[in-house]
Amino acid sequence: MARYESLKDDLVVCDGERPGGFPCRGQLYRCTKCGHTGCQQNKEHLCTKQGFNLNFKCYACSAVGMVELIASGHRQSKSAASSPARLAS
Ligand SMILES: [Zn+2]
Ligand SMILES: [Zn+2]
Repeated sequence: MARYESLKDDLVVCDGERPGGFPCRGQLYRCTKCGHTGCQQNKEHLCTKQGFNLNFKCYACSAVGMVELIASGHRQSKSAASSPARLAS
């Protein structure tokens, strides 16, 4: 069961490699036109599994801006915990 969790987790970050051998771990996007998935980098070919360039152009079908974020919602909601409203009492 825990294995499925980690598998699922791996799907939302890029497992490609950056120059120098660093793991990318970048956010993944999906092209809504062709279904291609990959991370987005601000330069060309910054990651072995880069899918989109600076302008969110799809490397597979060249559509621009036709991307959706592949996110595991629970991870992002975590950062919302530091609410300043807690100080008021
Ligand atoms: Zn990547
Ligand atoms: Zn595409």
